Amino acid sequence: MIVGASPRGVFYGVQTLRQLLFFACRQKGLVLLPPCEIWDYPDLKLRGWHFIAPLRHELSFAEKFLEWLVLMKFNTLVIEVDNRFPYERHPDIAHPQSLTKEQWQRFIAKARQLGFEVIPQVQTFGHFGYVLSKPAYRHLSELSEPHPRWGFYAYCPSNPETYRLVFDLFDEVLEVFKPKWFHIGHDEITFVPIGVCDRCKATGKPAWQLLAEDIQRLYDYLKAKGIERVAMWCDQLEHDRTGGYAPFFTHFAADLIPKDIVQFCWHYDARQTFPWLTRLKDKGFDVVACGWYHTQNVWRFAAESFDRRALGYCGTTWYGVTGFSTQVDLMTAVVLGAQNSWSVDNPPVEKALHPTNFAQDLWALVGERVRWRDGVDEFAFVDLSHFVNASLTMWGNGGIVPDRFPDLELATSEIWCDGVPFKLVKAGNSPPQVIALSSSETSHETAPDLVAIPTVSSHQTKALYLLMTTTSRPIRTEDIYQRGRTDPRKVATLIVRYADGSEERVELIFRRHLTEWNDRLGCTHARVAWQGKTRQGYLGTLCAFEWRSPKPDLPIVSVALMSASTSVQPVLIAATVGSD
Ligand SMILES: [Zn+2]
Repeated sequence: MIVGASPRGVFYGVQTLRQLLFFACRQKGLVLLPPCEIWDYPDLKLRGWHFIAPLRHELSFAEKFLEWLVLMKFNTLVIEVDNRFPYERHPDIAHPQSLTKEQWQRFIAKARQLGFEVIPQVQTFGHFGYVLSKPAYRHLSELSEPHPRWGFYAYCPSNPETYRLVFDLFDEVLEVFKPKWFHIGHDEITFVPIGVCDRCKATGKPAWQLLAEDIQRLYDYLKAKGIERVAMWCDQLEHDRTGGYAPFFTHFAADLIPKDIVQFCWHYDARQTFPWLTRLKDKGFDVVACGWYHTQNVWRFAAESFDRRALGYCGTTWYGVTGFSTQVDLMTAVVLGAQNSWSVDNPPVEKALHPTNFAQDLWALVGERVRWRDGVDEFAFVDLSHFVNASLTMWGNGGIVPDRFPDLELATSEIWCDGVPFKLVKAGNSPPQVIALSSSETSHETAPDLVAIPTVSSHQTKALYLLMTTTSRPIRTEDIYQRGRTDPRKVATLIVRYADGSEERVELIFRRHLTEWNDRLGCTHARVAWQGKTRQGYLGTLCAFEWRSPKPDLPIVSVALMSASTSVQPVLIAATVGSD
């Protein structure tokens, strides 16, 4: 029985039941649930995600994404529209792959049906290159020449034509979204000089006053259109962020603008505390805490949004919507954000159980991917013993790059990963023997570029399970904007050969199918199979990747791995063949 104080409460109760059913024990066609009573309610009223509007080829994924978010009981979407909208009055601004208005209406209707408050965001003042980069609108730019880094970026707030254009864009978005709230963007405006053109100088007003008047004008327009709450990013109102940039000092605008504008307070660092929430509240604003993907950032910020009485927590992301399935830290941030905005009283993030496995299961629940081990009941081990060339304890061994191999305390000779067994090549208490392929730093004598292993299965093969790891990256970074730079991306190719002579190739991507042994989060498409310590006390994680055969009726005769010779060595620890 599901009872709630409101239809919405019952709706989220149903989501909990869906999760219970998905994870329930199944026996002989029966689904067995333990008897239980769950008393549940959210700590934060607003629980949302901000993301860039999907393009046409992303639409079906974006619909699954909504269903995935609902399972974690999110209730707010901030959709950054900008040029990803089929503007009829200004078709030259519209991205050619924008959803049509009908597609937008269906998407928004689906979101509302799933209980989401849908808030459109249209970037104004700064980050306005999506308009100003078009020659027809360049005369609205504050700078007549493009900024060396940001190009044509900020509009002139003293040119009346600016607002005729902006209100045109607003009108069309309002008409399709029919929102209660509207987000005007307004972050990072003073990355370029503002208030410096002849028109602006002629007003004699300082930059902070120009900004305040701009916000007031947008606010008045949206209020007159019936918008309940106007929202904006906060940083231009903060003295220790872009708001403090000389000579603009736009933080003074905070005292001049309407106090019912909701401040989306974004901070992406792994901090212990976020005082900005309180500072903005002290000025009279309602605030929403906005983190991004860093584990510690999300965990602390979501919890602190409760302590500092924010309206809620809204995660953000700045790339295509598919990153929620393909970028492990973003995928994880959604689970952690969900957990801490529903119930803030949680242990330290290090104690959170593998959020990646959970996120993957929910992707399977909404049908975005095949469920782990689905329909696979029989397993056969692939014998690697004739091919192993390294030990998981290789400290100081000249051949393999020293210090980058783990010394994991693997006492057993079998590892089970959610029902899938793996047999390690090891004798007694000795460390497991593995196949370590080449990196850009190894010699050909010690680590081969390619290994091909025959498999003995004579009948059909539904899936292949690979327990893999890599050596650690030579350079790692905590810089949130630099994370892509140290990513080796494609690290190997899996080549599967069938009995009929045909073959399949799969690119194995770092942090998607396999990852370094000391990567706490794991992968987006491989499960955390084992977690433990090295003899030196470092955390070690091993992931298992499931590959589904597109020709399940054919036996597989060999499995080959070819290294891409990046900065890390791909390492195969065990392989298992699955059938039904
Ligand atoms: Zn100007």
